[in-house]
Amino acid sequence: MNKKKTNQTKEIGERYYSGELKFPFQFEDFNCREPTEMPRRFFPNVKKLDYRSAIKADVSKLRVSAWQDMPRCWYIDAWFDCGKCGKEYCWTAKVQQVWFERFHIMSEAFPKLCPECRRKKRKLTLALAKFSEASKNALLRSTDLETKKQALAILEEIEKLSETDLTRRLQEKREILTRQIERMTSFEN
Ligand SMILES: [Zn+2]
Repeated sequence: MNKKKTNQTKEIGERYYSGELKFPFQFEDFNCREPTEMPRRFFPNVKKLDYRSAIKADVSKLRVSAWQDMPRCWYIDAWFDCGKCGKEYCWTAKVQQVWFERFHIMSEAFPKLCPECRRKKRKLTLALAKFSEASKNALLRSTDLETKKQALAILEEIEKLSETDLTRRLQEKREILTRQIERMTSFEN
């Protein structure tokens, strides 16, 4: 094994504890001078990489697991198929830079879904949290029609975003809410 290979298989934690690496890590600490040297594991299942788009990472800003041999030293436009809708999408070098340097996502992470499916998933998580918060406020026992209507709207959004039937628990809540709203509005009229 040549020297370069030996260095690349050394884990960051080991190099750090031996004193070879110091915080904050620098680009030069790692054997990845060219974008083409980026190990493929940073882009699993990638269909195409456009090396002309490569942006050098500010390694000092990255979060790195101790068991990695290097952080993500380069950001490169990468094309994948979405794991959900199957559509091809580009994870751009610029977006990667934001993920890892601004949001400090672990530098070995990579997307499994296209931006649209990721947006939907985020919205769904938010809607579920919103409904669970609404439920805490004794939603089904409440006498406020507006609160119930809002909760029902959230449930409808959840169903739309998840593109599948609601769980049984949520279906039951929806049925109860619908009945209650019907009763309350018929009483009002
Ligand atoms: Zn998708």
